[in-house]
Amino acid sequence: MHTTALVLFSGGQDSTTCLAYALSKYQRVETVAFDYRQRHHIELDARLNVLRELRERFPAWAAKLGEDHLLDLAVLGEVSDTSLTRDTAIAMEASGLPNSFVPGRNLLFLTLAAALAYRRGLQVIVTGVCETDFSGYPDCRDDTMKAMQLALSLGMDRRFLIETPLMWIDKAATWRMAHALGAQADAQGGGQALVDLIVEHTHTCYLGERSQRHAWGYGCGSCPACALRAKGFAAYREYSLLAGISTRL
Ligand code: ZN
Repeated sequence: MHTTALVLFSGGQDSTTCLAYALSKYQRVETVAFDYRQRHHIELDARLNVLRELRERFPAWAAKLGEDHLLDLAVLGEVSDTSLTRDTAIAMEASGLPNSFVPGRNLLFLTLAAALAYRRGLQVIVTGVCETDFSGYPDCRDDTMKAMQLALSLGMDRRFLIETPLMWIDKAATWRMAHALGAQADAQGGGQALVDLIVEHTHTCYLGERSQRHAWGYGCGSCPACALRAKGFAAYREYSLLAGISTRL
């Protein structure tokens, strides 16, 4: 029986939804993020705001939400030259991968998360990787996650479960999942409160833009991350209206 989890929590839409998922399912949940000198520190700031808001608005979850960990991973910036760590534009490379791809990033994240989970006595590692809105990142694939689960469990002689609640759903379904989780949480405003929190406080934009507020949140509106988030939110709202779920516009 799994009762404890560590969530890879970056402060974006996906990892915030994963955190809500873990809080709805497990008795004790801790969070971890990695500072690898991202071009923009905004995501790391956003995650603290999300944690604060979750604690304030969802008292039942606040009781389960434990320690937050921030691990320094500056070495990742030393070994990789990508648009997320250097000041270059996001583009596709000859390999077919976007230059925002940081080789081995998720492999390192999961290895360090497992080492931390081992020390903290946490059984499940929850991560928001996804094959559906496929950005071409090979370290987000389901097979990679299963291989990592096996390697980490064998290599640390501790049975870890790597859980990926978003693996097979698209961004619109991720918004719907957030609404459903919020509705179950017995908090004021329920599902809409969690959707509002994600819109207002999570950060996804690759360019670190937070001066423009859209219906789906803050961002430049045109980078690949913003485009995906905007498209998913529009589809979610359309679905919600058809299904008669109230969405405050
Ligand atoms: Zn953007």
